[in-house]
Amino acid sequence: MARYTGSVCRLCRREGDQLFLKGARCYTEKCAFKRRATIPGVHGGNRMRRKQTGYEIQLRAKQKVRRTYGILESQFRKYYDIANRKEGNTGVNLLHQLETRLDNVVFRMGFGISRAQARMWVTQGHFEVNGRKCNIPSYQLRPGDEVKLLENSKVRKQVMDIMEISSSREGSPWIEVDRENLKGKFVTLPERAQLDPKIQEHLIVEFYSR
Ligand code: SF4
Repeated sequence: MARYTGSVCRLCRREGDQLFLKGARCYTEKCAFKRRATIPGVHGGNRMRRKQTGYEIQLRAKQKVRRTYGILESQFRKYYDIANRKEGNTGVNLLHQLETRLDNVVFRMGFGISRAQARMWVTQGHFEVNGRKCNIPSYQLRPGDEVKLLENSKVRKQVMDIMEISSSREGSPWIEVDRENLKGKFVTLPERAQLDPKIQEHLIVEFYSR
């Protein structure tokens, strides 16, 4: 499946915020955004000073979320269409689509240092869902689903080490984690208030409703 292979730190600088795409490095002084928070490119400084149009503000709000979750535009658009067809708030529905992806849940459980790593390990077949091996990062979990690292997984030691590092990371109350047995349960859909307050999902809805 296609994926972005360029510099991820460049994406943070483009969006003007830390997207935490690199794992441990993001929390250190080596973070590229902390060292140089300008838009990449020759005219980055000028672009930062220029007043953004309404379209640009909506576009940036969309790109920021899309890049945080590591989704390509076509898939992101599909998520929007599904969210739009569902009952309820389209923006929140969209966030639920993103949050229920298997790679995201593996990351939230603390089994991966970043969503990119969680996605790689899912693709390599290190996890099972409800007792069945699943190597589809976009697999949509439902409340009550259990995710577990395979008993014979070659990355078991690495996952345990990451669990140590990620223990300081803020937990996700809608997910239960059994750290000893390297498994977890997606208990329920998160409330909007539990998700990143910096996400402006209404701007994403406006962007796609133009
Ligand atoms: Fe973004 Fe992490 Fe790179 Fe910092 S280190 S710029 S937060 S990806």
